[in-house]
Amino acid sequence: MAEPTPGPVHLTADAVAALRPLPLTATTVADDSLWGTWLRRNAVRTLPHCVRQLDASGAVDNLRRVTGEVDGEFRNMWFADSDVHKTLEAVAWQLARTPEDLELRSFLDTTAALLVKAQGEDGYLNSYFTVAKPAQRWQELHWSHELYCAGHLIQAAVAAARAGVGAEIVTVARRFADLIVDRFAEVDAVDGHPEIETALVELYRMTGHRPYLDLAKRFIDLRGHGLLNPDRFGPVYLQDHVPVRQAEEVAGHAVRQLYLLAGVVDVAVETHDAELLAAAKRLWEDAFGSKTYLTGAHGSRHRDEAFGDPYELPADRAYAETCAAIASFQWNWRMLLATGDVRHADEMERVLHNAIAGSIAADGQHFFYSNPLHLRTGHDGSHEDAPSERLPWYSCACCPPNLARLMASLPGYAVTTDHSGLQIQLYTAGDIETTVDGEPVHIAVRTNYPWDGRIEITVTTDTPLTLGLRIPNWCAKDGVRLDGSPVVPADGYLQLRRDWQSGVTLTLELPMPVRVVRPHSRIDAVRGCVALARGPLVYCVEQADLPDGVTLEDVQIDPSAPVVVNHAPAVTLTMRGSVRRADTDLYPVAIDDAADPITITALPYFLWGNRKPGPMRVWLPVT
Ligand SMILES: [Zn+2]
Repeated sequence: MAEPTPGPVHLTADAVAALRPLPLTATTVADDSLWGTWLRRNAVRTLPHCVRQLDASGAVDNLRRVTGEVDGEFRNMWFADSDVHKTLEAVAWQLARTPEDLELRSFLDTTAALLVKAQGEDGYLNSYFTVAKPAQRWQELHWSHELYCAGHLIQAAVAAARAGVGAEIVTVARRFADLIVDRFAEVDAVDGHPEIETALVELYRMTGHRPYLDLAKRFIDLRGHGLLNPDRFGPVYLQDHVPVRQAEEVAGHAVRQLYLLAGVVDVAVETHDAELLAAAKRLWEDAFGSKTYLTGAHGSRHRDEAFGDPYELPADRAYAETCAAIASFQWNWRMLLATGDVRHADEMERVLHNAIAGSIAADGQHFFYSNPLHLRTGHDGSHEDAPSERLPWYSCACCPPNLARLMASLPGYAVTTDHSGLQIQLYTAGDIETTVDGEPVHIAVRTNYPWDGRIEITVTTDTPLTLGLRIPNWCAKDGVRLDGSPVVPADGYLQLRRDWQSGVTLTLELPMPVRVVRPHSRIDAVRGCVALARGPLVYCVEQADLPDGVTLEDVQIDPSAPVVVNHAPAVTLTMRGSVRRADTDLYPVAIDDAADPITITALPYFLWGNRKPGPMRVWLPVT
């Protein structure tokens, strides 16, 4: 067996954490599972598409301008280097699993060689500031994204090192990181867009070089002291209004807030900082108690791409950036490892199967930047920040390569370990091969999850082992069965200690009835509506499934009516509903309840928008 490849967040032995990840390569996902289709699509469709788009958008040429291979002005966003770095990271994770992919390896090798040439003698590497604003280097940190871009370069290097590819990227990233340590170890400054914090901790984990960890901690502790020029967005947008240790609420630009919190947990576990972890827990309660969409998405406001007030969760004007959903997944992964609290795995599952999965088209080459829960009839979808359909790329192209790096590393998030056993956190058909106490363990998972809640698990090992099975929060606790008998989980897990020597097969049954979900009484935007969910999947209704002449906003459902579950192979739902006659007055005094019966079909939210563009909604008015 080849040496296992560590995945994202490979904690040091000294880290204080309840759980540790298994290596990325310990879990092999079955090709015919839902995850299997996502992974294959990412490898053969999305990653080659990203590589082409980096060329077409000029992002690679910007680096060639630094080396003198290409003339002309800098093109595209000033942080476009990060799109290259994120794609490199994705390719590295992919090559860890499919090293024979020569096309991806060629991209990695040629881009690595380009980075070597583009790097300054002192280690600096940023094409925008080198080409367009050389005198402004490090002078505009509130807006420059210089450390943000460096962070993504470092994360690409960490992935490359763990995957055993692209050694030059590691050399380049370390030279740049060393320059950053020299430049910032004793200067009071932070970057307007967090990312460097988590990247430096990962680099510390890879190298053991303590100054990287110390600088990450320093950046976190300096934030919130008004060091950033607030410019036109103000300090809250930049999370510079209050120190993390004192913050009570998530606020400001959603992606920045969530990336910062990922770094906060990284620093907390590696420096044994209980106060910092307590701050992350407090902010998690705020984010997931009152500022999270049903799909797991974050960010209620297009303006400033920001969190809103508590319970401000409009469905149609949801901002819900793909990168914020990915950041939430990454933050929750770190929180899960730090605390062992099952709620973090529940949130990973929710955001992955809904907001994240829905951000990409079935063809793997079209993407949403914003992920609303309602696309209104008559929506003006001509603007890039809220289009009516997924686009092949964006001028601000942060989301597609971010999605690619998450998908390429997805098997690394399925299973965790502690001192005595393994915990299956996210279910997919596949095989887990690892060691516990030096003894080999093989676990075969056979299931049609998330379409079906029946999971067959065969464990073969000679070593004593406690197998933890997560019982998702959407599951009615009295309905869970193991080998046909009711079982009661403790703290969200079934902990099974057995003699596994002969290869024991367990059958876990997670009941998946259709759930009619209501919004919190304070979420005014969708009061009077319900949503449908089954297992981890949120459902929606699309105009494409309505009869001609019916407007989606006039459709209402009867929440007490029986729902038919159709397996084919994506599970859809049909139920009774009605079509209201639209009011004639904009603000009528008398309500006309007249409605005509209709049969409604709902499909998983993540599959919406794969036919012709058209209206969609998750929250449905009730009859
Ligand atoms: Zn994005």
